[in-house]
Amino acid sequence: MCGIVGYIGTRDAFPIIIKGLKRLEYRGYDSAGIALLNGDMTVFKKAGKVSELEKIVIPGETIANIGIGHTRWATHGEPNDRNAHPHLSQSGNLAIIHNGIIENYSSIKEELSKRGYVFHSDTDTEVLVNLIEEVQKTEKTTLDNAVRIALNEVVGAYAIVVLNKNNPDQLVAARKGSPMVIGIGEDDFFIASDASPIIEYTKNVVYLDDQEYAVINRNGTYSIRTLGNVEKSHAIQKLEFSLEAIEKGGFEHFMLKEIYEQPKAIEDALRGRMNASQGWIKLGGLNEFINRIDNAGRFIVTACGTSWHSGLIGEYLIEDLARVPVEVEYASEFRYRNPIINEKDVVIAISQSGETADTLAAIELAKERQALVYGICNVIGSSIARTSHAGSYTHAGPEIGVASTKAFSTQISLLTLIALQLAQVKGTIATSKLREILYELENIPRKIEETLLLDAQIKEIAAIYKDATNFLYLGRGYNFPVALEGALKLKEISYIHAEGYPAAEMKHGPIALIDENMPVVFLATNQSAYEKIVSNVQEVKARKGKIIAVIHKSDTQIRELADHIIEVPETEEILSPLITIVPLQLLAYHIAILRGCNVDQPRNLAKSVTVE
Ligand code: GLU
Repeated sequence: MCGIVGYIGTRDAFPIIIKGLKRLEYRGYDSAGIALLNGDMTVFKKAGKVSELEKIVIPGETIANIGIGHTRWATHGEPNDRNAHPHLSQSGNLAIIHNGIIENYSSIKEELSKRGYVFHSDTDTEVLVNLIEEVQKTEKTTLDNAVRIALNEVVGAYAIVVLNKNNPDQLVAARKGSPMVIGIGEDDFFIASDASPIIEYTKNVVYLDDQEYAVINRNGTYSIRTLGNVEKSHAIQKLEFSLEAIEKGGFEHFMLKEIYEQPKAIEDALRGRMNASQGWIKLGGLNEFINRIDNAGRFIVTACGTSWHSGLIGEYLIEDLARVPVEVEYASEFRYRNPIINEKDVVIAISQSGETADTLAAIELAKERQALVYGICNVIGSSIARTSHAGSYTHAGPEIGVASTKAFSTQISLLTLIALQLAQVKGTIATSKLREILYELENIPRKIEETLLLDAQIKEIAAIYKDATNFLYLGRGYNFPVALEGALKLKEISYIHAEGYPAAEMKHGPIALIDENMPVVFLATNQSAYEKIVSNVQEVKARKGKIIAVIHKSDTQIRELADHIIEVPETEEILSPLITIVPLQLLAYHIAILRGCNVDQPRNLAKSVTVE
């Protein structure tokens, strides 16, 4: 989950690492630290953000052209100075930065303690660096070999970089279950947990595969081997995104920028994959396996968090249009509950980062049981993209804000295309209806632009309810998962307790919470079941709840009942989540800002959840 940066070469390492850490801060921000080698090992580390670290750095002591840096997302031990990375080995010769969890750290720690090792932090990471040192000592071997042997003893997920005081011309990096990319400069190397710190220096990168380690030398050479000690060579890949894409571009926060980027992100997601006037849909990944997908007895969508919500919309879409049964599973449950899966199933795995640990494990399970795995992710070259049999990228561009926005809408766009293409293949949709939907899909970016014009009005509503302690989000049909996602956005960034519910289900519990202090957000754009939603609104009104209703311009009844209305453009009901989510994202954003919260880096969260 954390951010990792390493540099070796001819330039000044410190500013490169600090800048890299800032770019990676969205991955973890409990504490930050840096280790530099210039004869001596110099370490600075501090709880809090990278800016706190900068405050304690002693300027004269940062001269070095090799170093490593880390922003932490604590798993073992409080986020304090002591537990911040890098961690040093007992001798002080090795410094490590680590992303992930060493599951068997306590037995290793016990063993190392018996051998005289003393630990200065509560982390699993410090145990690993000492294990490496112990292996190096007992086996009298090189650092890279010691890393390999030590990693064969540990259970867990990790990406690590090790710096060795006795060899200032080399970095050793390894990964299992956590991403790691090496940027290849002219006469230097950049190592990072994603490409954002690298892009400004080079577009040439090599991705480490799972269970591989790399030895990166100052003389411009590097080598990659598996943890089983087999030599590997990887093609150099070109980074496709620009520096601009990972900067705020005039917006105050990444989240707001990414909300506003949705029209373009959806256009990019649809580009070349459909044509309304010619009535075709061509998802490369789907075409490749179309027979198997067409013959699937069932789809299982597996994901976590926001991606799970888009999966629910996928269920509605695929069942509705293509008439194939769909189940939606939390990856963390699916992977451990011994589910029934077979070779007739298609598993759709959704993850923005493509690195979500639970989703990756769910994919492995599905593959073991012979299901076809279709991955939907945003990060090019990510683990899910590489391990799935087929799949599609969302092409949303880098998403930096921890609360997902454009990833959600592009995931839904792709799921819509999957459902439509499948419906076309199966003949469950009339050609005229298909065209109508495709035309409307092409119109969605423009309609989102129109919805974004409501920003100021939504900010006013946010000001009224910013001090609420609870929120309820209600929707029916396609708008039910949107209610879940709206509530999640608010929880994540404003720390207000919020629940999403199917509007009718409210009567079976949440209605007990409704009083004059309870804001209830209704997603009421449904053409079908409109009367039912009106009744649900009445039920809340009768109990004096404050009603904020997202409605169509043509709405007649709900506008009379609601305390606040947000009028969004009309669209096909099956596409409505793409529109109705936008005001909810803006509402959450403004409430969080008015409460003084850090929307891009909400407490306790991290962008890419690479631990279970
Ligand atoms: N498990 C390590 C720790 O708690 C690494 C966490 C991370 O990925 O940031 O320090």
